[in-house]
Amino acid sequence: MLNATDQATFLSVRELRRSVQEAQKPLVYWIGAGTSKWLNYPLWKELARQLRREFSKFVEGYNNEQARKLIETNSFPAFFQRCRDLDQARYYRFLSNAFLPVPETALYTRFTEALGRTKPLHVLTTNIDEALERPFPGAGVYQRSDITGCLEQLQGRKPFIVKLHGSRSAIESAVFTTDDYEKLRSNSGYLSTLKHIFALGTVVFLGYSVSDQYLIDLLSDNAKDMSLFGPGPHFVVSPDFKEIASLRQIRYSINRFPDHRAALTVLDVIRQAEARKTELSAQVEPPPQQLDRTVSPLGSKTAYFISDVLPPGLWSNSTTAQITKIGGGLEAEMTLGLGFAKEELTTTVSTALHDLVVGLICFDFVYFPLSVLGKIHVLLGSEFFWQLVQADITRYVHLQHEPAILSRAGTLMGDIGLVSLSDSTGQAEPTATFIRRQIAPFPGKESVAEKQFSDLENKVIVFDEGGKLDLAGLVRASLMMPEVTRLLGIADAILPTQVPSWLKFPCLRMAHLVHTGAVCDRLGILAVKIPFGGARLTSAAFGIQPASESADQYASYVLSGRFNTDMGAALVGQPEIFQNILRFRDSAEGESFRKEVRDQLLANEASEFTASINAGLKRNIPIRVLEQARDKLSSLLTEKVKLSPVPAVWTNSFQSDDTTWLWRAKSRSLLLELTKKHGIRADDPCICGSGDMLRLCCALPLRE
Ligand SMILES: [Zn+2]
Repeated sequence: MLNATDQATFLSVRELRRSVQEAQKPLVYWIGAGTSKWLNYPLWKELARQLRREFSKFVEGYNNEQARKLIETNSFPAFFQRCRDLDQARYYRFLSNAFLPVPETALYTRFTEALGRTKPLHVLTTNIDEALERPFPGAGVYQRSDITGCLEQLQGRKPFIVKLHGSRSAIESAVFTTDDYEKLRSNSGYLSTLKHIFALGTVVFLGYSVSDQYLIDLLSDNAKDMSLFGPGPHFVVSPDFKEIASLRQIRYSINRFPDHRAALTVLDVIRQAEARKTELSAQVEPPPQQLDRTVSPLGSKTAYFISDVLPPGLWSNSTTAQITKIGGGLEAEMTLGLGFAKEELTTTVSTALHDLVVGLICFDFVYFPLSVLGKIHVLLGSEFFWQLVQADITRYVHLQHEPAILSRAGTLMGDIGLVSLSDSTGQAEPTATFIRRQIAPFPGKESVAEKQFSDLENKVIVFDEGGKLDLAGLVRASLMMPEVTRLLGIADAILPTQVPSWLKFPCLRMAHLVHTGAVCDRLGILAVKIPFGGARLTSAAFGIQPASESADQYASYVLSGRFNTDMGAALVGQPEIFQNILRFRDSAEGESFRKEVRDQLLANEASEFTASINAGLKRNIPIRVLEQARDKLSSLLTEKVKLSPVPAVWTNSFQSDDTTWLWRAKSRSLLLELTKKHGIRADDPCICGSGDMLRLCCALPLRE
């Protein structure tokens, strides 16, 4: 995710979005060694160190100490120059071997797929490996000697890749040494081509870090002489780049994923802005590309995390607490929960039992947050509830932190935070207390219950990493994604550190998704069920492509012979069916069905949200496995069990998960209620204080 607390990053992302959406300039990517690192190619420093070792071992008279110093001060061109001067043949052989073709990694695939969505694709790269040319065979490849050719492509909006620093297959063209750089500087054709590119396009630097700074220094030296960068805007995407006046900074954090995958967020920003541009110009969007990745081996067991449970007919699931100052006076307000109102949901039919059946048929384990323990206990009935716990089929996660919106009393804007329930000593609430607060033993059965409670307690997984996650930062970062702000209806003037009161719950739902993603990631959970509206939002925040198949449909078929059955409704009053499903789980057919689901789960392994959303699958379950599973379960359903398939009124397919417009309608009515109270009309200055008219500010993104 991007660094949302950095004001410059927020402003840059907004500018990038605007320039993609509104400006006519083509985008040009300037791609550096950081992206090749995703293929495990060495960065400059590693490369230099390897070369130094080789030279100190084999080249007589090599000044190892001097080499070490040059590397430590990032003086790479000078270092490479000395090597080449001493032993040219060895130098070239080494470089050529260091950049031999390698197999693709998941992260690199995600990168090239995201890159490929910008059409036409314009790339300048300083990487000498040839990995980028492979996925884009349609792009014209230009070497330094014929670099001017790319200008014609740029003007004609045709795809190209320019190898600014040469290529491995013509290793003597590679730019590494002081001499090489000097030649570049004095190459007027080269510099004037770059100058034209900067003038014609918006350039986005990707894959550079502070150790590549000399490259930008070199360019900006020229910038002083001949205003190389032109009017811009151009952007540098990097966790740690030095401030340069002509380049806007987009910073991201590498705390959670040190492999820099957060840099890819920017490609999602661009894709969303481009999609919006297309939508605005009323053209048809190209169909999303199908992903085809192999699942990473996350252990042999699979789990389905049902991240929230809304029991039938009960939709109030939020809490607002007033925090008062000692000695009186209202100090602050804290809001927790998802706060769904009836009008924000397409259906008020609970999916809880249905989701559990999907979990039982398709996965080895079903996980729930411990906070819904009481609801599950009621829903399943005591006997079946404890049966599932004892068989270690259902598991509970004690999330010790929860996202909350905090605001000062009487103010309009709150901020996202993380709270944990603690007892009077300030310690987090113990799991034991948390369980007993939700389930009470039957009178007279206290000792049996006590045994069950302590069994359960031992099995509960405590997740206390909320504090380490910087959840607030991650949520703010997600609120910087253009498609997320559009889905939630957040106006341009609102900063990611502000949560207006009318958008409290939509923002909390986003926070819930971010938190859930982190839980799955840490616990190795392969699939997650998220509340209505969440699939589109998660996809927008994390740049995940939707799956067209889902385990849900197949579970429905195995149980009922139809793909769209409300399995919860079918089960009402027939607990025997559950026992038959458990028998099915133990059969060979049940096991091979679960294995097939595991193999087809959509792996978002290179994304910052790794679990499969709503158990989306890469492709169909083979008909043979499906029919065998169906036959087996049918044979177990005895005469007296009558299964009457009721069609599900919802569907879990991604495409139909476009319910956030209902949330926006709700937010709009809250906003209008508020502005009416303050006597603010459509043409008056907006309530948020931006100075713009209400109808062009906070009301605009909520308009339907
Ligand atoms: Zn406003």
